[in-house]
Amino acid sequence: MKNQNQRKQIVVKGLVQGIGFRPFVYRIAKRNRISGWVLNNVNGVKIQAEGKKTDLDNFVFQLKHNAPSLSRIDSAQTKPIPPINSTDFIIKKSSGGTKKTTAIPSDLAICPDCIKDIFNSKNKRRYLYPFTNCTNCGPRFTIAKSVPYDRKMTTMKRFKMCPDCQREYEDILDRRFHAQPNCCSVCGPQVYIVGSKGPIKGLKAIEKTVSAIIKGKIVAIKGLGGFHLACSAVNKKTVKRLRKLKNRPDKPFALMAQTANQVEKYCRLSRYERQVLTSPKAPIVMLEKKPRKDIPQIAPGLNHLGFMLAYTPLHQIIFKLLSKHGFNYPLIMTSANLRDEPICIDDEEIQKHIPNIPDPVLSHNREIHNRMDDSVVFLISDKTHIIRRARGYVPDPIKLGKKDKNVILGAGADLKNTFCIVRGGEAYLSQYIGDMEDSQNFYKLSLSKLKEFLGVTPTRIVHDMHPDYVSTRLAKTMPGKKVKVQHHASHVYSVMAEHRLKAPIIGVALDGTGYGTDNTIWGSEFFLVNKKGWQRKGSLVPVPLPGGDKAVFEIWRMALSHITKVFGVVPKTFVPAFKSVSKNEFKTVSKMISSGFNAPLTSSMGRLFDAVSFLALKRPTVSYEAQAAMELQSLCKKAPKTYPRFDIAQTGDMFWANPLPIFEFIRKNSNSPQRISEAFHMSVANMVLDMVVLISKQTKVKNVALSGGVFQNKIILSWCMDLLLKNGFKVYVNEQVPANDGGLSLSAPLIK
Ligand SMILES: [Zn+2]
Ligand SMILES: [Zn+2]
Repeated sequence: MKNQNQRKQIVVKGLVQGIGFRPFVYRIAKRNRISGWVLNNVNGVKIQAEGKKTDLDNFVFQLKHNAPSLSRIDSAQTKPIPPINSTDFIIKKSSGGTKKTTAIPSDLAICPDCIKDIFNSKNKRRYLYPFTNCTNCGPRFTIAKSVPYDRKMTTMKRFKMCPDCQREYEDILDRRFHAQPNCCSVCGPQVYIVGSKGPIKGLKAIEKTVSAIIKGKIVAIKGLGGFHLACSAVNKKTVKRLRKLKNRPDKPFALMAQTANQVEKYCRLSRYERQVLTSPKAPIVMLEKKPRKDIPQIAPGLNHLGFMLAYTPLHQIIFKLLSKHGFNYPLIMTSANLRDEPICIDDEEIQKHIPNIPDPVLSHNREIHNRMDDSVVFLISDKTHIIRRARGYVPDPIKLGKKDKNVILGAGADLKNTFCIVRGGEAYLSQYIGDMEDSQNFYKLSLSKLKEFLGVTPTRIVHDMHPDYVSTRLAKTMPGKKVKVQHHASHVYSVMAEHRLKAPIIGVALDGTGYGTDNTIWGSEFFLVNKKGWQRKGSLVPVPLPGGDKAVFEIWRMALSHITKVFGVVPKTFVPAFKSVSKNEFKTVSKMISSGFNAPLTSSMGRLFDAVSFLALKRPTVSYEAQAAMELQSLCKKAPKTYPRFDIAQTGDMFWANPLPIFEFIRKNSNSPQRISEAFHMSVANMVLDMVVLISKQTKVKNVALSGGVFQNKIILSWCMDLLLKNGFKVYVNEQVPANDGGLSLSAPLIK
């Protein structure tokens, strides 16, 4: 009896499709003398395996422990079934199913093997072929129309594989076995120049684009998730023109290089930063500039650059041809859109939305089904922090602590929007949607697609309590139970959801602005979160926000507001800073501040940064949010020995932090922006510590969650963490989702 065969059915769930999982199963089956079959279905991968007990045990062990590096097994349910004396192991055709539970993989950067293929002149079908991919790389989510992830469910359906590609696709030992987007120059998609008289296609089209870049033109290139506007990063005239055309006088542009070594010419690159930069997710990584190698037009006033590597074969080929012409510089690769509109994904959109700018437009006939921006991250030591979560990360789900019976929608915020659908114990964040004023349709379409992929309709809708948010208004039109949440509490809950933390916890949200429960605008909030919910325990002493959102760009307004609060009048030292503000405007804003008309009270930390930055840098206006704060951060080189402390006072149940001493310090050091920057960063970090210590003394709580847009300031984040850790606190921060409003929707499963 001991040698008799046993048979098991195994259902593997997780990220197991589109990454070579079935060939892997096939290989370990053969190695362990197992017969049976494997197939993809909507639940994941289903296996029936038959063999001797020890062989079967080894098979199951290897299945769980040696899976391909790009896969992620969430569960592998095994049950014994009667043996049928099967003899061979086969890969069966995908089968349908009733419930959709399988994740679609995220898009992956071109792998080293495929790079070899496209630069090997002996490889007839793939030499310089810009759609080369294999099981380890290539498009996934951006081309997926439905589940399961199979070619016929993608936009590659219209391309019939040639006999050679078909053979690769069916050969278990081939790197392209069951690579759904597999194709070659014989059978696959082609690039072309949009609107060219007498069609310019293939390599000719790429060559035309390359020579335009060298000549200093701005071109458009269709990539994985949309078009980029691309040009030389070192041609001052061109960069200037691009800034003018995009109406983007200062905001940094993302750069692309072919290799990490090229990036290292311009930026410091730690071992971990190099790892993330060259990973299959291939995000834009924020890196410290090397001072003498700066390209000053790319990120004026800042000490860092955002770099990504050429992540598609098309980008690789463009760099190769550029270098053949002696052009060895990075390219600007910025989303092809104007203002905050969604990135353009097809020829019609780019011609309509960005007329007459790019010349030429390099497009292709592989349709983008899911619009997707590039992701942006930064690192502190070996930890990655996400600023924008999109390509390479979406739609990977975030595992939650417990399963919810309800399907929940987190509607998200209005800027840097993402939404989130929670199904079972998993949260699926949408790709970066952006500014809701400009991206409502993108939001609606992405929501209906994600619902379709997951096969669910949310029954609980969690939305911001701001009544005028576009996301709130949309949420209210949806069927299901509506639940309101305060913006900054939501930030804190996003950390709790991500780390599966249990209450009680002290939550700190340092942020721009969000609607508070007391008719003021919040932004530096300290909460106690317990099982019943959250309680506001501390904040910044509120000051008027003159002209509301206008103050985000006219940062002198917030400086005037704080100065008025502290000194009553503008002290002599600060008068020159306001020189470029018109007398009329100064008068109007002063009146707003004193009367409170059109000047709601705010405890925003983002706006305090604006005020301090204005006084340090003497720049009255900015052209993008947090610009001055980022410039101020760039001046911060080291931890200062002396710095002012916020005054903290207690009123009833609340602790109030007053920045008065900061402004006195600035008055005494007004000609030393670097000193102001270093002292202010340290003051804020110590204020966070002081507030947390006070709340902890009252509540005995030692766990702290930090979130909100201000924690994208690398210095604030690392100094706060250091101080809290040194004082015996356990600190949790956002890692899988952004700390800014792009991670907010993850709070949804915890909002009661
Ligand atoms: Zn590959
Ligand atoms: Zn082919």
